[in-house]
Formats: sequence, structure tokens, C-alpha cells
Amino acid sequence: MTYRAQVEDIRFVFDHVAAFGQLRDTERYAETSEDLTDAVLEGMGKLCEEVIYPTQRNGDLTPAVLENGVVRSSPGFKDAFAAIAEGGWVAVSGPEAYGGMGLPISLTTAFNELMTSSNMALGLCPLLTQGQCEALEHHASEEIKSLYLPKLISGEWTGTMNLTEPGAGSDVGALTTRAEPNGDGTYAITGQKIFITWGDHDFGGNVCHLVLARLPDGVKGTKGISLFMVPKFIPDADGNLGPANDLKVVSLEHKMGIHGSPTAVMQFDGAKGWLVGEPHKGMAAMFTMMNNARLGVAAQGVGAAEGAYQKALDYAKERQQFGPIVNHADVRRMLLSMKADTFASRAIVMSCAVALDMAAATGAENWKARAALLTPIAKAFATDTGIDVAEQGVQVHGGMGFIEETGAAQFSRDVRITAIYEGTNGIQAMDLVGRKMMDGGEAANVLIDEIEADVEAARAAMPELAEPVWQACESLREAVEWLVSQTDMNTRFAGSVPFTRAFARVLGGYYHLKAAMAEGGEGARSKLARFYIRRLLPEHESLLTYAMAGADDLFAFSLDELEA
Ligand SMILES: Cc1cc2nc3c(=O)[nH]c(=O)nc-3n(C[C@H](O)[C@H](O)[C@H](O)COP(=O)(O)OP(=O)(O)OC[C@H]3O[C@@H](n4cnc5c(N)ncnc54)[C@H](O)[C@@H]3O)c2cc1C
Repeated sequence: MTYRAQVEDIRFVFDHVAAFGQLRDTERYAETSEDLTDAVLEGMGKLCEEVIYPTQRNGDLTPAVLENGVVRSSPGFKDAFAAIAEGGWVAVSGPEAYGGMGLPISLTTAFNELMTSSNMALGLCPLLTQGQCEALEHHASEEIKSLYLPKLISGEWTGTMNLTEPGAGSDVGALTTRAEPNGDGTYAITGQKIFITWGDHDFGGNVCHLVLARLPDGVKGTKGISLFMVPKFIPDADGNLGPANDLKVVSLEHKMGIHGSPTAVMQFDGAKGWLVGEPHKGMAAMFTMMNNARLGVAAQGVGAAEGAYQKALDYAKERQQFGPIVNHADVRRMLLSMKADTFASRAIVMSCAVALDMAAATGAENWKARAALLTPIAKAFATDTGIDVAEQGVQVHGGMGFIEETGAAQFSRDVRITAIYEGTNGIQAMDLVGRKMMDGGEAANVLIDEIEADVEAARAAMPELAEPVWQACESLREAVEWLVSQTDMNTRFAGSVPFTRAFARVLGGYYHLKAAMAEGGEGARSKLARFYIRRLLPEHESLLTYAMAGADDLFAFSLDELEA
């Protein structure tokens, strides 16, 4: 397969669906001209097609290994990462004051998508570094910022995120890692962290760990957690690498996918750390990183879907069974479902990214609320789509899909983790119906109002597409009203996953309609919109019925009955 970077579609979504252009009206992003945006997207696409994609299979076939306490990365990864760093692509949204380009998060999101289509395992390294840059930018002291940010942004050093422990996964507040003051302004960090992505590598430079730990006077739960910078090598004030810190990689996990991404068990034995942000306010700082990473993981879902789709399409055009299989109705069904959902998820993810950029550029509460609402939907739907599309990609390949040689299975195995890390999709859905609806459903209703106004405007030109989207919006509005009227949170949580998917389905219908409108109702995008609205959008009805079914059925079973 020849991978084709999906730059054109990203550009279309920017221009006609996600209203990226409005960023140019803000002072912060006034210089993100069309030419600059084109040049950036083209540069990313070229890098991913020519340098990154050729390394994709290496990670799967020759996983990262731990040798004498040091991680040796998959063949070609070191050079590919060097090319990413050299091009300045590690953190394009990094602040200019520290050597970044200060570009919108939307462009970083495009990068993460393209990186995932071409090599998801490697793409995780810059993705986590970006999140660390953002957390430091907003919460670290000037001293830490000026020491670490330029090196992280340039890719000379890389960043990790250390939350998870054996007894603290979704329940981060259960963590037991300790931080004791050393008396000189630094802290001794002791504990074990598991599942740490790119916890070590052989790219050179430093590996900078952001670690959540509890100070001696930290209360139990999330309110007693603080955040620390704990570097592999302790740098001097000029950033020259000094002695090794008291931390090590104990082992690497053997995983279902992303074999080229070293997932480390990290041991900290009194390692020297520096406090980031206020004592006991670590979760707030970590949330900056987690929210950034949630959008990054959402982009991974889109990227994996795109890569899997391209592979399946190429195969379907070549494989002959009763003629080329691409001509069979069921293969068409699979390919078009894959293509339509990939577009829907790209549109949702980019709309979320633009909302985040608008929030950053204007500080306006409405943009903050929009970004907060869209983040769990984008993360859950795009990653579920990545998984579904990659799975269908295997099916399109028939028996060869099950044979590793084609690489179709790699997409399916690699993308599976995206529904789990950065808060499982179940946790995302609970966030949507819980925290994100503490406003009584206002942010959701404002969005539904906006969609309905646009759909009304489209009705004259495309009644057969506009009407079902408008009806779907009304059903969604009813479900929002029902949800916010439920005071028992378990009732909300019981239907949160189907509700989140239904919300995404409706958004997908709206964005497909916008694409068709932009095209004047004639052409491939309009045909795809018709396919989505007629065949995939109706799923929202059964999802919403499920969303409003309450929790009683779920808890009607005793544990014995579950076993029977
Ligand atoms: C390959 C890989 C890379 C990772 N990278 C990192 C990393 O770089 N840094 C890091 O800190 N962590 C990392 N993680 C950890 C990851 O974020 C966690 O695995 C994830 O948050 C889930 O935690 P858990 O595995 O303990 O699952 P659990 O929390 O045990 O969840 C098990 C199941 O229970 C559900 N569940 C849990 N609590 C609730 C609840 N209150 N209500 C409803 N359902 C619930 C979950 O949705 C899930 O389905 C990584 C994991 C993997 C596998």
C-alpha cells in the first residue's frame, strides 16, 4: 500500500466544517494565514508519507526491548524521531517564547492524526511531549519552564506522564507514590508507576517524567496529590545533562498492539523531583495534560481509521473474487461505512480542537464550555470509530486480514488501546453526562440550537438530508432534558455510553450536511453525506432509547445470578 497523507480532507474540514478560519480574526492566531496553514499541513504530510510511514511495520515486527536497564527502540524509530524534531514538528503549538511556533492546537491535532495513520507507536512520543509542554506552560515556575520547554519543544528531550499505579487506574486518587521534601526546595519521589508510555528510549537527550505523588501532608484522594518534574538525568541550570536520577525502568509490557511504543513499569527510589504548580494542586495541572492528551488520542482514532481505510480500499480494488471485490455490495457497505465514519470523527475532533483554540485565544466562557463538552465526545467516538473501522478493514481483507503479513491486523491491534487510555471511554461518557452537564444541559442545548439554525438554512436546498438531521437534534434535546432531570447519578451513568455515541452520531450528521452544502449538493461529499444520514445516523434512535432506560435492569441481577 502507498499511504496518502489525508491533508486535503483535513483542509476541507478546517475550511468548511470546523470554521478554522475564525482563528485568524483573533489576535493570538492572526498570523495563521491560509498559506501558512497549507505549508504546515503539506510539510507534515510529506514527512509522514516519506519518512514515518516506512517505519510503521518495524515497530510491530521488532518491538522495543529492555536491554541492561535501557530501552532499545524499534529499527528506524530513532532516525524518524530525529526527522520529526528537525522539522520542528514535535510541538508546533509550543509557546514562541520558548522556541515553539505558537500555532493553534488544531494543527497539532492534524499532526497527531497524520502521525497515527503512518506510525501510531512512534507518534505517541511527540504526543506525550506536547501534553507535557502544555502542562508546564500553564503551571510550572519560570525556572522550570526556561530549563525544560525549549528542549522539549525542539525534541532534544522527551516527556512522559506518570499517573497510573497498580492500585490506581481510573481511580487516580488512590495512588501511593510519595514525595518527601529534601530541604533544598527539591523532593524525593518514591513509588512505582505502571504503563508509562515511552518511559525510556535510545533517542539521546533526557526523558522528563511528570509524576503525580503525595506530599506528607497531602490528604487522601485527588485533593492531596501534587505534580513533580522528575528527569532521567539531572540537568544543570544551562540544561547540560548531569548525573542519572534514582529511577529505572523495571520492565516493558508485552502488549496487544503498539509494540514499537515502550510501555514501562517505572520505579522511583527517592528520585529528585521539582514541584510543578502549587502543592496539592497536582490534579489541576495534570488535567491540562490529560485534556490535551484526550484530544491527541481522539486524533489517533481518526488517524488509525484513515490508515485502515486506505489499506482496505487498495486491497478491495486488487482482490479478484467473482471480479474485483470492491464491486460487491457488502464490500461497498463496509468501505463506505468506514469512509463516512472517518469523516464524521475527523469533523468532530477538529471542531473540538478549534473550540479549544478559540477558548485559548479569546478566554471566552462559551468557547471553554464548547471545548469541554466536545472533548469526551471526540475522544470516545473517534477512538470507537478507529476500532470499528480497523476491524472492518480486517473483514474487507478476508482471510488475508487475519494474516499478519498484510498489516491490516496491525491497525486493529494498535488502535484498540485508544478506547482505554487517557480515561476509558466509559469514564469519558460519565464525564459528559456528569461534570459536563452540571450546567443543566446548557452547553449541550446551545450547540443543538446552533445546529438546528444551520440545518434550517440548509432545508430549502437539501430537504431530504436536512430533515432527518433536524429530527435527530430534537430527539437529542429530549434526551438531554431527561438526563439533567435525573438526580440519581447512577441513572445517568447507566446510559452514558450510548448517549455519548448518539450525540456523536447527530454531530456527524450535521457535519456531513455541512460538507454537502459546501459542495452545492453535487459530488462525492454529498453522496457520502447521503450515505451517512440515511444509513448510519438512524442508529441514534436506538442509542437514545438505551440511554434513557435507567439503571434498574443493570442492578437487578445479584452477583450469583451474573454467574448462573
Ligand atoms: C498501552 C498503555 C499505555 C498507557 N500509557 C499510560 C501513560 O503513559 N501514563 C499513565 O499514567 N497511564 C498510562 N496507561 C494507563 C491507562 O491510562 C489506564 O490503563 C486507564 O486509565 C484505565 O485504568 P486501569 O487499567 O486501571 O483500568 P480500571 O480503572 O481498573 O478499569 C477497568 C474497567 O472498569 C471501568 N471503571 C473503572 N472505574 C469506573 C467507574 N467509576 N465507573 C464505571 N466504570 C468504571 C473502566 O471503564 C474499565 O472498563 C496506559 C495503559 C496502557 C495499556
